[in-house]
Amino acid sequence: MTEKATVEVSEIHWLMDMFQSVDVGLVVLDREYKIQVWNGFMENHSGLSPYEVRDKSLFEAFPNLDKEWLLQKTDPVFVLKNRAFTIWEQHAHIFKFKNYRPITSVAPFMYQNATFIPLTNTTGDVTHLCIIIYDVTDVAISKIELQEVNKELQRLSRTDRLTNLNNRGYWEECLQREFLRQRRGHSVSSLLIFDIDHFKKVNDTYGHAGGDEAILHLAKILKKSLRETDIGGRYGGEEYAVILTGTQAKDAYVFAERLRIMVEKSIVSYNEFEFQFTISLGIAEYTDELNSHQNWIEVADSALYKAKVGGRNRVEIYAHPDKSEAKED
Ligand code: GH3
Ligand code: MG
Ligand code: MG
Repeated sequence: MTEKATVEVSEIHWLMDMFQSVDVGLVVLDREYKIQVWNGFMENHSGLSPYEVRDKSLFEAFPNLDKEWLLQKTDPVFVLKNRAFTIWEQHAHIFKFKNYRPITSVAPFMYQNATFIPLTNTTGDVTHLCIIIYDVTDVAISKIELQEVNKELQRLSRTDRLTNLNNRGYWEECLQREFLRQRRGHSVSSLLIFDIDHFKKVNDTYGHAGGDEAILHLAKILKKSLRETDIGGRYGGEEYAVILTGTQAKDAYVFAERLRIMVEKSIVSYNEFEFQFTISLGIAEYTDELNSHQNWIEVADSALYKAKVGGRNRVEIYAHPDKSEAKED
């Protein structure tokens, strides 16, 4: 062998070595999607040697591949001679390889990015396709975990610690949205506000912790009563509010009465004590005369006030001033 030929053979040998041990998957397919090349990464993760897969159809060797999606990616590579890419956020993986990293709880399978490269023959025709598979599990896990932490932080920032109900800030945001929605003419909604009667007495008798128990007790009853579309929240210390979407005042009244009776009949257990309490409730249906969501709260609050002065443990509906009557006056 000449010296040049020896160098060339060595170079090919090195290239093959690198090709086998590089930490990305390399697959070459012909136009029938038969596997022509299968490197060490692919062998290690699939458990199939190059001899086992050689000349086999990719889709027969891996029946779980998302064939339709993959062809949509690879067909243009053959036809247009362009490279194509996929990222794990669009498609978690091409080959469903197990993830062997220690942090397996988040990702049982390897997340993959991939590049598709057209391979041409000497006359410039695309005869083969190379797929490069990158293991991006670490990046994906970090991002997924960060998203989950952010989601949890967002949930916490919206939630009242004691009752787990929406806190006032978030609940008011919801009310503002509902107010604007009502303005655009959606089916009418009602606002319900309620407050524990003589709560100072509860605190005085059973202490602040006993009072907290009553607040929690009421929150539980409220949560059980809410429908999917109702948005409840803790508006203040022992004051709660519910947006009853798509509900007229008369139907909100039925809801409020049911809640009032449930609370009146229920018993709070706190240490060795058992006690009962009542609530007063105010309702205001949306009308176009309301000029802001705060105004909506004010009128519901005035109905609550009326229930308080009217004897407590009762429901009042805010009577919107009738414009026609106002004109006659
Ligand atoms: P009313 O029937 O008119 O509502 O009488 P009330 O005694 O309930 O009066 P008010 O609503 O003004 O009293 C609220 C009391 O609730 C005052 C405050 O000390 C207490 N409070 C507010 N937040 C909390 C809380 O988180 N826990 C406890 N235990 N008490 C609270
Ligand atoms: Mg009160
Ligand atoms: Mg109060």
